[in-house]
Amino acid sequence: KPGLYIVATPIGNLGDITVRSIDVLKRCDAVACEDTRVTGKLLKHLGIAKPLWRYDDHTGEEARTRIVSAAAGQAVALLSDAGTPIVSDPGHRLVEAAYAAGVEVTSLPGPCAAIAGLTLSGLPNDRFLFAGFMPSKAKARTDLLAELCNVRATVIFYETAPRLTKTLEALSELWPERPVAVARELTKLHEECRRGSARELKLHYEEKPPKGEIVLLVGPPVAKHADAGDVDALLTDALETLKPSQAAAQ
Ligand code: SAM
Repeated sequence: KPGLYIVATPIGNLGDITVRSIDVLKRCDAVACEDTRVTGKLLKHLGIAKPLWRYDDHTGEEARTRIVSAAAGQAVALLSDAGTPIVSDPGHRLVEAAYAAGVEVTSLPGPCAAIAGLTLSGLPNDRFLFAGFMPSKAKARTDLLAELCNVRATVIFYETAPRLTKTLEALSELWPERPVAVARELTKLHEECRRGSARELKLHYEEKPPKGEIVLLVGPPVAKHADAGDVDALLTDALETLKPSQAAAQ
């Protein structure tokens, strides 16, 4: 069936491609992808040969228009190098253009590092906020953390190995009480999920520099509990304010 098919691909373990994704890749007419070499390798592994069209959101209007008009009459799959296209990856503008042209869009869910990291982290997941890549510059990082500090949710960032300790240092200063998890090399041989305070994790990774791909997760702000003295004071205040109305009721 013609249309644009958003196909999630493995983030490390090739066994994570879904049966439905393989089926669409077999049946589609062409594949739009971030890097034709990376996607070429995956398709070769699956025994599938298709025309590969390089696409990223900066490839330009022309490539986008070409892909969208092809998708009006053919099945075109959209893949990124790994994981779910569009999530910190190209494709958003292509999907927008497809809708604008009345082309049908279908999403085939599958691996996504943010969600794999969240489920593995053991952090609260009733509310979470995906914040994309942690900014590399110190000022932008501090500004983002200040903007997010009151959000009552686990916050998920993509991070790179060389920057991890600097980011953990910033977190230990700005959000010292919040629990942190570093989910590294998800679905791969050396998968690791290390949990602790930002300070503990910073000390660990300073001693043992991390390698590979990283999802950094920070639990929600810790609720401030009133201590026993405050509770007494609050109760006395509450009783004081009740008195006039009780008097009126009598
Ligand atoms: N679209 C992808 C997805 O659905 O996960 C993410 C693409 S983004 C360009 C790449 C970043 O995702 C990496 O720098 C890393 O932060 C994270 N990532 C991807 N694969 C990972 C893995 N196997 N383990 C940990 N983090 C991973």
